[in-house]
Amino acid sequence: MDIAVVGAGMTGLTAGIRLSQNGHRVTIYEKEPFIGGLASSVRAGSANVDRFYHHIFVSDTDILALINELGLKDSIDWYEPKNAIYLDYFLHPFTSPVDLLLFKPLDLISRIRMGLLVLSSKFIRDYTPFETVTAKDWIIKRSGKKAYEKIWEPLLKSKFDIDSDNVSGTWIWNKFKLRGSSRGKNIGREKLGYMDNGFIVLLDKMADYIKQQGGSVKLSSEVISINKTENGKIELKTTAGISYYDRVLFTGAPRLLADICHELPSSYSKTLEDIKYKANICLILELEESLSPYYWITVSQKGFPFVLVIEHTNLVGTNGYGSHIVYLSRYCDMTDPIYSMSDHEIISKFITGLKIIFPNFNDNNIIKASLSKAPLAQPVVTLNYSSRIPGLKTPLEGVFLASMSQIYPEDRGLNYAVRLGEKAANEIIDDL
Ligand SMILES: Cc1cc2nc3c(=O)[nH]c(=O)nc-3n(C[C@H](O)[C@H](O)[C@H](O)COP(=O)(O)OP(=O)(O)OC[C@H]3O[C@@H](n4cnc5c(N)ncnc54)[C@H](O)[C@@H]3O)c2cc1C
Repeated sequence: MDIAVVGAGMTGLTAGIRLSQNGHRVTIYEKEPFIGGLASSVRAGSANVDRFYHHIFVSDTDILALINELGLKDSIDWYEPKNAIYLDYFLHPFTSPVDLLLFKPLDLISRIRMGLLVLSSKFIRDYTPFETVTAKDWIIKRSGKKAYEKIWEPLLKSKFDIDSDNVSGTWIWNKFKLRGSSRGKNIGREKLGYMDNGFIVLLDKMADYIKQQGGSVKLSSEVISINKTENGKIELKTTAGISYYDRVLFTGAPRLLADICHELPSSYSKTLEDIKYKANICLILELEESLSPYYWITVSQKGFPFVLVIEHTNLVGTNGYGSHIVYLSRYCDMTDPIYSMSDHEIISKFITGLKIIFPNFNDNNIIKASLSKAPLAQPVVTLNYSSRIPGLKTPLEGVFLASMSQIYPEDRGLNYAVRLGEKAANEIIDDL
């Protein structure tokens, strides 16, 4: 059978592999001139670095199995990160439970309550009670108002902006649980995985595999409409021409499917459009000198233009990059004025903020600055989210949807993109 997959991100390429292995001819359409979607890469020195920062956890078994299957086991390395929180205009180490106990901005009782909340989340299996309580209310109830205001409120605001008060308890419970699992038996030591030369190494291998199986990956090929024909085939109009398929899998955000597939019932399209996403703005700085010893700095101080300072080379080393790689990241609503500012304006705002955290930072330290924007970077997980998630099979026969917004109760991530791609491929195979 001929199957089209729209999107060459982790979900689309995974589905492409599984469908090819099942004997189908797969054509992947990608509107960008590169593969990888949010996991695509840019060049830094003589190496690749992810356009948006990535790491995986030891509990990410689906992506680890795929990495093994494609013979890339030796490309994944595990590192122990050093983390910090920037609060009250000071960098506080925040890597281990001991750091939490010594964390000055909170009184001892709040620290202990906060530690217990994070630890106990690892053992909670049933998330359904969290579906009807906001993250805000749950945290205040379990770890107190002070901990919420100092630590969690800035974190939620940094990710969900104007929607942060409506984020479901499920989202934050899952974050606590994940961080607990990434420590395995040794709760003092977290381990994070990164691929030598970036996750693009895996994505390239996946695309090559699909081609070896007789499939194709068409770049700079945007799908502009999806329609059903009278003979039961699905017509795909793309910037590269018109083609016909037996099944189509769309892997972009739900609202993008509603935009191009007008035969979907209007009530269903509305449910797709109602799933909100946050945008991300991410600056990569290639620096002469390192900023700090930390990999991950959460900026909990109000009024900063970015919310994360991630010194990637403090995790993986500078090999191949010839510089220190730092990401500055900000999530925002698409309507936030910062999203429409010019790259120059955003870079200048970010650098001004960076100089407050690191007063000795000097413009001469910057070798290169590259800005990326993703309009649909993070689904907003609100109360009773499970009842709003569309199924993989759409009401238009033969058309399937597998997007980050259908990952639940976990949050989006490379591991879950692999899992979702496999699930979508299985549904299509069952449908044939
Ligand atoms: C800032 C940031 C940091 C992250 N950090 C991590 C991390 O540390 N660890 C982790 O595991 N995950 C992380 N993630 C999440 C991870 O990147 C995503 O979960 C994953 O890449 C999603 O893959 P996907 O294929 O589902 O979607 P996408 O990567 O969005 O792929 C969808 C593809 O569809 C294409 N497309 C859409 N519409 C069309 C059309 N009409 N025609 C043709 N093509 C189309 C898009 O161009 C895109 O390439 C991060 C994400 C962001 C934004």
